[in-house]
Amino acid sequence: MVQFHPTGLVIPNSLMTGALLEEGLRGAGGRLLNGPGERFMARYDPARLERSTRDLVSRAAFTEVQEGRGTPNGAVWIDVSHLGARFVEENFRGMVRRCRDFGKDLAREPVEVGPTAHFLMGGVVIDSTCHTALEGLFAAGEDAGGVHGSNRLGGNGVADSTVFGGIAGDVMADWVVGRPLPAVSTARAGEISGRLSAPLGGVDGAALYSLLARLRLLMWERVGLIRDGAGLESALVEIEEIEQRGAAVAVPGGPEYNLAWQDWLNLTNMTTAAGLIARSALERTESRGSHFRRDFPESDPRWLVNVLAQAEGKGARVRTKPVRFTRVRPEVERPEPLTVEVGD
Ligand SMILES: Cc1cc2nc3c(=O)[nH]c(=O)nc-3n(C[C@H](O)[C@H](O)[C@H](O)COP(=O)(O)OP(=O)(O)OC[C@H]3O[C@@H](n4cnc5c(N)ncnc54)[C@H](O)[C@@H]3O)c2cc1C
Repeated sequence: MVQFHPTGLVIPNSLMTGALLEEGLRGAGGRLLNGPGERFMARYDPARLERSTRDLVSRAAFTEVQEGRGTPNGAVWIDVSHLGARFVEENFRGMVRRCRDFGKDLAREPVEVGPTAHFLMGGVVIDSTCHTALEGLFAAGEDAGGVHGSNRLGGNGVADSTVFGGIAGDVMADWVVGRPLPAVSTARAGEISGRLSAPLGGVDGAALYSLLARLRLLMWERVGLIRDGAGLESALVEIEEIEQRGAAVAVPGGPEYNLAWQDWLNLTNMTTAAGLIARSALERTESRGSHFRRDFPESDPRWLVNVLAQAEGKGARVRTKPVRFTRVRPEVERPEPLTVEVGD
């Protein structure tokens, strides 16, 4: 499950696209307007308007753009000018500065924004002391899954990393004491190193960047804010194709300070993560938190389960595990949870 933040800056041809305008702007009364100037949140959440939840506001802005009511740059506007320039400049100094860097005056004019991928709720399965299923591997923070459920409240990302990072550090320090170094097979290490350095020494790395761009676009269009079964299935086919093509792509230069090689390594990891995200989204035939399926728009209490994927051969085995409730109880009577157990 991937959380989107509703108000990332949209700056054409700039890598700064996606830099955040903070939530406090909407909290203070900031308005979101579509291309024709309508305060569109009135259609999606008339009671809370712009103060609605991140997932709802993000989906609303995305829908406005998809349905042709976006700004010329495929965005929506955030307007805080009615709050008074002095108020905005005093209370949102950082945001005013950020916009000024791009020639925009947040305190006096609307600024283009759009949803931006923000946080991965899923991740490596850990127990409460950050152990994973692999002996000696610990995980904490955004790499780990299961801490936030299907959404994350603002501010809890850094808290998660700090708390679980601290726990992992303490636990690891105790765990290593008196333990022999793990046996490492030199043949296996050589095989991994050979696979990872295989693309080095090529002539032209352009193919790599078109694959990265394709992966980004398909994740945005079919695995992002609004998903459906057909889109997810076709995305999975394309992700696999990108993975295969990526494995055959070469990058120029050697291993020292080689950004293209880093991007190649990133592509390898991104296709793995993308496949897991799409696969678990396809299995979950309901909508919940940040996961929205247009073909299953309601939450289904039978899906009060976690979807787990485990590597198996070249694919993944997917299964479900009922959510264990501790302090918070589900608002609805939970029927028999759904069980999914499929190989791939
Ligand atoms: C734009 C933005 C704004 C946010 N604002 C907030 C906020 O206001 N409040 C909040 O609570 N949360 C916020 N979050 C979420 C929060 O910042 C993150 O969830 C949190 O920082 C994750 O911490 P982490 O330590 O798990 O991972 P990271 O902070 O991503 O740290 C991982 C580190 O590992 C390094 N690394 C990666 N690969 C390797 C490698 N192979 N070898 C060595 N090092 C490696 C990376 O360089 C990085 O330094 C925000 C997130 C984003 C994207």
